[in-house]
Amino acid sequence: MKDLDAKNFERTINGRQTSLLFIKNEQGFEAAICTYGARIISLIFNGVNVTPAYPALEPYISPTVAPYHGATIGRYANRIAKGKFSLKENDYTLAINNLPNHLHGGPEGFHKQVWEVEGVYQNSLVLSYFSKDGEEGYPGNLDVSVSYTLSESNELIIEYKASTDKITPVNITNHAFFNLNGEGSILQHRLQINADVFTPVDETLIPTGEIKKVQGTAFDFRELKPIGDHVNNNEEQVKIGGGYDHNFVLNKEDGKLSFSAKAIGNKSGIVMEVFTEQPGIQLFSGNFEAIKGDPSTFRNTFCLETQHFPDSPNQQYFPTTILEAGEVFNSKTIYKFSRLWLTDDG
Ligand code: BGC
Repeated sequence: MKDLDAKNFERTINGRQTSLLFIKNEQGFEAAICTYGARIISLIFNGVNVTPAYPALEPYISPTVAPYHGATIGRYANRIAKGKFSLKENDYTLAINNLPNHLHGGPEGFHKQVWEVEGVYQNSLVLSYFSKDGEEGYPGNLDVSVSYTLSESNELIIEYKASTDKITPVNITNHAFFNLNGEGSILQHRLQINADVFTPVDETLIPTGEIKKVQGTAFDFRELKPIGDHVNNNEEQVKIGGGYDHNFVLNKEDGKLSFSAKAIGNKSGIVMEVFTEQPGIQLFSGNFEAIKGDPSTFRNTFCLETQHFPDSPNQQYFPTTILEAGEVFNSKTIYKFSRLWLTDDG
């Protein structure tokens, strides 16, 4: 892959060697995946890198620049209030890394781990990780795998599997930061989300438990509209998030792989459609500068993280995220790319 030197991604972390792996389909759709965090570094469609990449591993190792970029997030993606939950009368306390809450599996979550390579083929690869009982406070040994496949219809297919020997919460996502123009502001990207309702949050970004209609709010993405149209609205939820940082409740049948979202790059005409088996999707509008003091790293990417709802282990009415010993967690998400040749004026 042009512009990326695999050597810049080779380091020894916790005694294990990291590497950069490449896959592609026959249409020229390519991905570079790093074993550090089972992470998408770049995804090139029609010559455009739709997940803008850093050329070396350091920014991804840094706790502030790009720790989650493209990574597989777990054991629990998004937040668990105060890092606490109870299961079968046992209380658990998780590592706190987003005061006062636990975020994205903790400071040493899946995104910081060096994953094993199970297999690399022309258009797919499989990585695995063994998460020990007690890691970041979670109960149970968890065997996890993720596979990435680039289909001939230009889909990036991500599949997760996990099994445990003790009851534990599991919520795994991929945290790709997209820019379908390849660079610049994302505010003119058009976005649609197949959700009539979303889960409002408190000041610490924990769901209040309310399920709120998007109608009449900045969160109404039922029809395509530019991400920037309401990102600075004076609505309480937008102010709390500093923009969009919210979970949308997808319109769907439980567990079915179905259409969830669509985004279009206004300059490139690149279309990304998202399909998932998960019940929710987190829209994050890149609400802070990845590199402090560099405004070009503010709102230059957005995320559509397919997931279970944040803080589900503490929310009685949210779909369960609890995996029992001996059960297998299985989940699939597809990001499908095509191109419209739309102009800047829409
Ligand atoms: C979270 C944000 C967080 C971001 C970090 C998102 O999934 O919802 O609150 O700041 O990840 O990259």
